[in-house]
Amino acid sequence: MSDQIVLKGVSARGFHGVLEAEKRDGQPFVVDVHLTLDLSRAGRTDDLAATVNYAEVASAVVARITGPSFDLIERLAEVIADDVLGYPLVDAVEVVVHKPEAPVGHPFTDVEVRIRRSNGPRAVIALGSNLGDRGRTLSLAVDALRALPGFTLTSVSPIVETDPVGGPEQPPYLNAVVLGRTTLDPAELLEALHRIEAAHGRTREVRWGARTLDLDLIQFGAPGSGQEVVSDDERLTLPHPRAAERAFVLLPWVRAEPEARVRVGPGENDIRPIAELLDRLDRSGVRPGPEWGQL
Ligand code: ATP
Ligand code: CA
Ligand code: CA
Repeated sequence: MSDQIVLKGVSARGFHGVLEAEKRDGQPFVVDVHLTLDLSRAGRTDDLAATVNYAEVASAVVARITGPSFDLIERLAEVIADDVLGYPLVDAVEVVVHKPEAPVGHPFTDVEVRIRRSNGPRAVIALGSNLGDRGRTLSLAVDALRALPGFTLTSVSPIVETDPVGGPEQPPYLNAVVLGRTTLDPAELLEALHRIEAAHGRTREVRWGARTLDLDLIQFGAPGSGQEVVSDDERLTLPHPRAAERAFVLLPWVRAEPEARVRVGPGENDIRPIAELLDRLDRSGVRPGPEWGQL
């Protein structure tokens, strides 16, 4: 996946530089921004919400050029990269800052600083609860994910209520899915999920038995991308081996991310839209749950 939006030559007068005269008089700065992101949904749907508005990016760049003065254009490039990575759709960004009238002391045509930064891989987490105050537990688990260092939550699905599948006789579940970006590695993220489960009284007596909170790591890195992690380690199997058969995972997930895809096998053709998988599943045991705002 290597779709890009390239915005070139955004220019404004700024006051960046080490010298006093630069901070006082200012000079022109020119910025190019290359955004790497998946544009397939925007291409299919013609929907502005499925892409990044480059006019907004241009405004953000101009605000940084004309904003508080930095000594270094390295710093200017870094804050612009940070701003752009704030769009969760963006996988990576390259920022080039030109300073064509820099005080170099010799004839020259341009000087530029070029940096590349990326958002961490995407992670998909499924939440479930069927003991205690289920809605409140899910809500606190989402808060804990929001606060988790190294994890940036980007969306939360609606809640569904689900009749239990397999395992012993037990009460119905509330389920939801959270999407985010992370700089943790998969094992660290799973460990953090286990800590959040434990903080909410999760015990493990009966496999697939009732629990206050279950947090499963469903997918790490977009399937087919360089960030995707596939693993058959039983301590952490990725993608989650049963997720593609579970309407209580796919249904909330598709609500949060209609274009989501999941790997169902090792081949290139084994990456399927979850909407398509969901169509073939029995969804009778999954119904709308409470609204987050009502919990
Ligand atoms: P299921 O995995 O079928 O949803 P479960 O969630 O009830 O079942 P748990 O008892 O919560 O299963 O977890 C059992 C073990 O599964 C955990 O100790 C964990 O190490 C391992 N595991 C393997 N892959 C994953 C994954 N992708 N997400 C969460 N746990 C995983
Ligand atoms: Ca589970
Ligand atoms: Ca689990």
